[in-house]
Order: sequence, then structure tokens, then C-alpha cells
Amino acid sequence: MRKCIRCGAEMEEDFVFTGAGGNVIRKKGLGGKAVYPKAAVCPMCGEISLYVDEEKLNKLM
Ligand SMILES: [Zn+2]
Repeated sequence: MRKCIRCGAEMEEDFVFTGAGGNVIRKKGLGGKAVYPKAAVCPMCGEISLYVDEEKLNKLM
């Protein structure tokens, strides 16, 4: 469970971060695949935190 860096409340996870066609994160250069980050939202203060699912971390590195 993610905690809000601003107020310490438990964040709601599994929001999908979408732009035009969805935004991906990828390491600069040739290594690493593109991964869709997810977002967590704090229900108390509205802070948004982007993160990558643990099972996708190895694809990113
Ligand atoms: Zn918060």
C-alpha cells in the first residue's frame, strides 16, 4: 500500500494514467522496454503519484 508523501494517508492505487493513447515511461537509450505507469491518488489531499507495477520493473531496467 502506498502512503502519500504529503500527508501520510493511504493512497488509492490502480488508476490508469492516460494521455493521447496513453503515456509510457522508458529508459533513455537502447535498453529497456516501454512500460505504462499507473497512478495512485491520495483521497485526503489529492496528491498524485506515478508508479510501475513490480512485475513490470524488470522490463523497464
Ligand atoms: Zn495526501
